[in-house]
Parts: sequence; C-alpha cells; structure tokens
Amino acid sequence: MKTNYNPFENAQLQFDNVAEYIELDGGMREFLRQPMLELHFTIPVKMDDGTTKTLQAYRIRHNDARGPAKGGIRFHPHETADTVRALAMWMTWKCACVDIPLGGGKGGIVCDPRLLSKGEQERMCRGYVRAIHKQLGPNEDVPAPDVMSNSQHMLWMMDEYETIAGSRYPGVITGKPVGMGGSLGRTEATGYGCIYTLKDLLRQIGLPAKDTAASIQGFGNVAEYAARMYTDLGGKVVAVSCWNQPDSTAYTFRKTSGCDIAELVSIKDVFGSIDKEKALALGYEVLPGDDWLAQDVDILIPAALENQITPAVFPRISDRVKIIVEAANGPTTPDCDSLLKDKGVIVLPDFLCNAGGVTCSYFEQVQSNMNYFWDKAEVLNKLEYGMTKAFRAVYELSKEKGLYMRDAAYIIAINRVSQAVKLRGWV
Ligand code: NAD
Repeated sequence: MKTNYNPFENAQLQFDNVAEYIELDGGMREFLRQPMLELHFTIPVKMDDGTTKTLQAYRIRHNDARGPAKGGIRFHPHETADTVRALAMWMTWKCACVDIPLGGGKGGIVCDPRLLSKGEQERMCRGYVRAIHKQLGPNEDVPAPDVMSNSQHMLWMMDEYETIAGSRYPGVITGKPVGMGGSLGRTEATGYGCIYTLKDLLRQIGLPAKDTAASIQGFGNVAEYAARMYTDLGGKVVAVSCWNQPDSTAYTFRKTSGCDIAELVSIKDVFGSIDKEKALALGYEVLPGDDWLAQDVDILIPAALENQITPAVFPRISDRVKIIVEAANGPTTPDCDSLLKDKGVIVLPDFLCNAGGVTCSYFEQVQSNMNYFWDKAEVLNKLEYGMTKAFRAVYELSKEKGLYMRDAAYIIAINRVSQAVKLRGWV
C-alpha cells in the first residue's frame, strides 16, 4: 500500500479532478495547476559557536490574480519545494473560498528551530527577508506564521524589511505581536475558525457538541485553540498527539475522562511539544504517536502535518467517527477521500475550515493600514461571520449537487480564481 505521498501531486490531483468536473478551459487548467513564481535560495546563518550554517529556503507564489499573495513561512527539518508548492496552491483556494481579496503563497526554511538559539533564530529570520525582500511587500506577497514559526519571528522579519526599505511597512507581514501591529484574536483565529465551521455543521446535522468526543493530532497553535473552543462548546477531547519535548518522538496523550486543555498547555513548550514525564505524572496514558486516529470518538481533528489520513491507516479509524475537521493543511490523501466518502464520514476540508488564520491576517492588514485596531470581540465576531458564511456556501452546494464537501469547496474557489484570471485577461 502506498505510504509515500507528494503533497504537490496530491494538490494537483484534487485540482485536476474538479477542473474536469466543471469543464474548466484547458489553458486555464494549465495555468492554475502550477505556481506563478518560485524562489529557491539559501540563508547563511552565523551560529553562536562562530561557524556558519547554510539553510535551504523557499518562497513560492501560486497565484495573485485576486490580490497580493498570502501565506505562512514554515520552519521544519523535512520541508521540501513540493510541500511549499502544495501549501501555496491551497492558500490560493483558501483565500478564494472565504472570499478575501488575496492570492496564495507560502514559504519555508529547512531547519529545526528547536535546535537553534534565540540569536540564531533571529539571524535566520533576518536572512530570509534579506534574500527575497524585493519580492515581498504589502502589495506583492505577505508572509505569516506557520508550523514552528511564531509572532516573534514575524516581528524580526518585519523589522528587517523596514530597515532595508527605510520606512514603516506594518502590512508586509501578519501574525505580529499585539501592540506591534498584530491583531487581537490572531493567535486563536485558526483553531477557533475550525470550530466555528464545526459548530455550524453540528447544528446542520442535529448533533449537540456536548454529546461528542474528539481526538486531535498536534498540540501547537491551531490544535490548542481548536481544543479550547471545542471544550467550551461542551465537547470532550480524549486524546492529543504531538512531539515530546526532549526526544522528538510523537506520542498520543490520552485521558478517556477528558483532557484538561489548560493543564496540557501548562506542560507544553512554544513549539507545541508536551513533556512526557509531566503528562505521566498528571495521569495521562502515553501511547504511540499515531494512536490518536484509532480512538473511540465522533470527531478527528488532524492539526499537525499533511498526509496523515491514508488508506494504510484508514482501517484503524473507529466506525464511530462521523466528522473529520481538517485543521492541518492536506492531512487526508486523495486516495483516502473516496474511502471516507463511501463510509459516510463528513470531511470539513482544510482550505475551508482552517481559513480562520488567513481571514484574521487579512483583518490584521486592514487594521495595520488604518493604524486603528479593533477589540477582540469585534475581530472574533467578524471571523465567525466570515467562516460561517463560507461554510454555508460550501455545505449548501455539496447538499444541492450531492458532492463531497472538498469538491464543493474547490468548485467555489476555482470559479472565483479563474474568473479573476479571466477578467485580468491573463488566460
Ligand atoms: P505548530 O508548530 O504550532 O504545531 C504543530 C504541532 O504538530 C505541534 O504540536 C507538533 O508537536 C505536532 N506534530 C508535528 N509532527 C507531528 C507528528 N508526526 N505527530 C504528532 N504531532 C506532530 O503549527 P500550527 O501553526 O499549529 O500548524 C498546524 C497545522 O495547521 C499545519 O498543517 C499548518 O500548515 C496548518 N495551519 C496553520 C495555520 C496557522 O495560523 N498557524 C493556519 C492554517 C493552517
């Protein structure tokens, strides 16, 4: 059985299937299945011990017909050009699906920031911007945080950009700290956004959140806030899976009576790794990393990396599972979609349900441009409104045409992007 998936091939396959279904013009298909611009570059980083380490880095722009490219910068030892290509493409569909005037881009640095000192991380972030500052800008391409990058990294990047440009450009990057051009609610936005869409789905299918249990992969930014809001709605999180702090191995931390999210947050580090010894001391069972998907729950929330739900692991998923909330980007492989569809599992597709982050990043840009900042309740109200509206459009199309929700989301997104491309006269 296939175990080695290329995320960009997956993204292209998903696109090709829907392009075929909607009979998208051949020239448009050829244009939209590739990125418009790719930057592959290296960053020499002066290490604390006096040596220099050269890191491979990427910034890839998939499409900017609807507005400046937008997308995070991921720090990960296994980052590849194809992962960044896929993530950039999904950003295009994400921004179009929630109807914000932005295109799709993504970046990455092949590194493990947990092994770098604070000074080394700062020099790496500044080096990234120095290498590609001409291609960045509020009207060109606007980065944000992603896996293992955070608001401090974004601020160093913004500062480097402004130093080179000789002026203030708060709109050049989002996910900045609050008080430094960041938006209240940005930290919570992706996780909360996932649960806003889940909340509306549960309402549509008549299943109260308090009667459900969930298992989550990941305990970083997205997973933490998804878990917080889901438990606030009355749901029970029975397991979370993430890397353990000292040994970089994934484990599942389980408490069948329900995990205490605040307690788990108190024993995790800034990269979303839970300390195994402390978890054991608090009464958690510690299981292998991939056991999160074999739990007796109604809802699975993959919130870590791509290619986690595959035909190889499909038989391990409990028959009780009714919903998969794709908080991560690309967690389900295309060959598993058909299995889930046949089983009647409802999949809230990634570029719809995890669009809360980019929606709030867009709010951050708007506030930065006005130099006037909204309070948190206003940000979250606008976010819930935008996410629910996007979910309803996808859900209704899927009901009307009998479509898998991912395909319905793709139809809406591809139609919006191809219309922008056509109006510009590019194809
Ligand atoms: P993060 O770095 O804060 O957290 C990642 C989590 O995944 C950590 O808890 C880590 O321990 C865990 N993890 C990594 N590999 C694992 C493995 N093999 N098994 C179990 N756990 C593992 O990252 P994040 O910002 O929370 O992003 C998570 C996912 O959500 C990614 O797919 C990202 O692209 C996507 N996403 C993030 C945002 C955002 O605003 N941060 C927005 C949209 C989508």
